[in-house]
Amino acid sequence: MKKEIKHIGVMGAGLVGALLSIYLRKRGYKVSLYEKRDDMRKSSSDSGRSINLALSKRGIKALEDIGVIEEVKKIMLPMEGRMMHSKDGELTFQPYGKEGQFINSVSRGNLNKILLEKAEASGVEIKFEHTCKSVDLEGTSVTFKTPETEKTMQFDLLFGSDGAYSQMRQAMLKTDRFNYEQYYIPHGYKELSIPPTEDGDFAIAPNALHIWPRGQYMLIALPNLDKSFTCTLFFPFEGQPSFESLQTPQQVLQFFKNTFPDSLPHLKNIQDEYFQNPTSSLVTVKCEPWVKNNCVLIGDAAHAIVPFYGQGMNAGFEDCYELNLLLDKHSDDWENTLAEYQEVRKKDGDAIADLALHNFVEMRDLVADDKFLVQKKIEAKLHEKFPDKWIPLYSMVTFSDLRYSEAFEIGKKQQVIMDEVMQKPDILENWENIDLEKIVDKL
Ligand code: FAD
Repeated sequence: MKKEIKHIGVMGAGLVGALLSIYLRKRGYKVSLYEKRDDMRKSSSDSGRSINLALSKRGIKALEDIGVIEEVKKIMLPMEGRMMHSKDGELTFQPYGKEGQFINSVSRGNLNKILLEKAEASGVEIKFEHTCKSVDLEGTSVTFKTPETEKTMQFDLLFGSDGAYSQMRQAMLKTDRFNYEQYYIPHGYKELSIPPTEDGDFAIAPNALHIWPRGQYMLIALPNLDKSFTCTLFFPFEGQPSFESLQTPQQVLQFFKNTFPDSLPHLKNIQDEYFQNPTSSLVTVKCEPWVKNNCVLIGDAAHAIVPFYGQGMNAGFEDCYELNLLLDKHSDDWENTLAEYQEVRKKDGDAIADLALHNFVEMRDLVADDKFLVQKKIEAKLHEKFPDKWIPLYSMVTFSDLRYSEAFEIGKKQQVIMDEVMQKPDILENWENIDLEKIVDKL
């Protein structure tokens, strides 16, 4: 590790790269941020589509820390629970946590714009249309392709925040003793939309994350500021039914009519959107080490996860927050900081990756299961009675900043206890009389 760090390059001006560059600039480093796309604040390429994400405690904490939360609050829409849509149109609302606890739907584009504005105002140099073609891990240099030319730039330290298909990680992959694991789930996703009603209102309840759970697949919807919803269909690539099996507009309509009947009247442009919008895949990436010489992975580049816990961005923001804390702790000694960053965050990255995979089963399947719902109710009561002793796993991940790896371990213990409780033959009828103290004592 080169000792004196003055100029830091950050590759990828997505959510994590933009936030990271603000943190680094605030510490007094010269920061250059490079992005392959053009400046989203000037271009209209994303304006036709509104892709939204769930922002929760860990992400909010970092946004507060760098002083942009007031701006972000203006684009946050609270979602207090899951609104389940059964096949016959019955609605069931399941709160996410205690009263006053909610997650927030935010537009990815608008959040990214806020962060870019803040980065620029803090003195970060931002270069758009700079595609990283290769990284020299020994020389801490990057070769960029721009519309005009190809050039190589050298830095004292380099961060790869260039997402799930990171070029920096690609370079690390070629080095000795770099461990790498990737896993594509058999499902892909496609975005659809529910526009506002004719009188300009939300077509379905705005304060919830809507889920149409259907066993092997599901449809979800998150609200937008313009009173539309962005829906995502998580669906197998192959098999019956699947993206492969729905080939014609009639087949799509028939499928939605049979499977998500109450959504269909609201999905006004489904025929066009289904065929025009891309079908994208969902990958989990685990790798190690995240630091090679003076090159460091962060965000999705270090730990791409499936979106079912709504934590990918939140985890990436937490990477930046924790890195900044470690720089404080080690008085900007990068060698010690990065050693600890990797040690701590790798465990947490792995934990949230596994939790996210598991939550897909919960969302698409279990949320419609009576036994599961009773279990959630018992856990909510446990939390109410013993708020410090029993915190449901979802709350530990979403509403606390307990390390993901610790939450994961506690969650496993809780599950063993709850499996035993749920085996009682009359549990569905008599769950309200259960001895909560006895359950908590088992922890
Ligand atoms: P990215 O957002 O991928 O940004 C990487 C940036 O690098 C991009 O701007 C890209 O253009 C740029 N780039 C890439 N390659 C190069 C290159 N070679 N040269 C230069 N620039 C490059 N997370 C949540 O917390 N909550 C959610 O509700 C949620 N929902 C999701 C739903 C879906 C369908 C998906 C797919 C993800 C979801 N996520 C969610 C995860 C979240 O989107 C990611 O974790 C987050 O975007 C990671 O940020 P990042 O900056 O690390 O990567």
